[in-house]
Amino acid sequence: MDDSLQTPEELQQEIQSLTDEVAAAFLKTINNRPCEACGVDDWFTIPDMKVAGWEEPLSRGVLNPVFVISCKNCGNLRSFAWARIQYFMKYEYPKHGE
Ligand SMILES: [Zn+2]
Repeated sequence: MDDSLQTPEELQQEIQSLTDEVAAAFLKTINNRPCEACGVDDWFTIPDMKVAGWEEPLSRGVLNPVFVISCKNCGNLRSFAWARIQYFMKYEYPKHGE
């Protein structure tokens, strides 16, 4: 049942590999659009909240990690399912030197 769950150490390692460079490449790959709230296209990641957790109310506290970016103009938060980030880092992100 829980074979898809990662250890905290594995997750921490993954979060560390999501550098600013990788995050920028991800946003470019998906054609990240301007802010839906204010229309400005200027995003940044909040230190210490680059990856947050959404709690699953029906699973009693299980956290789903999400990659979070914030609009510089209005503070709107946009979040991306961690599974998508994992897929990007594993299969889509160009490896250095290739
Ligand atoms: Zn905005």
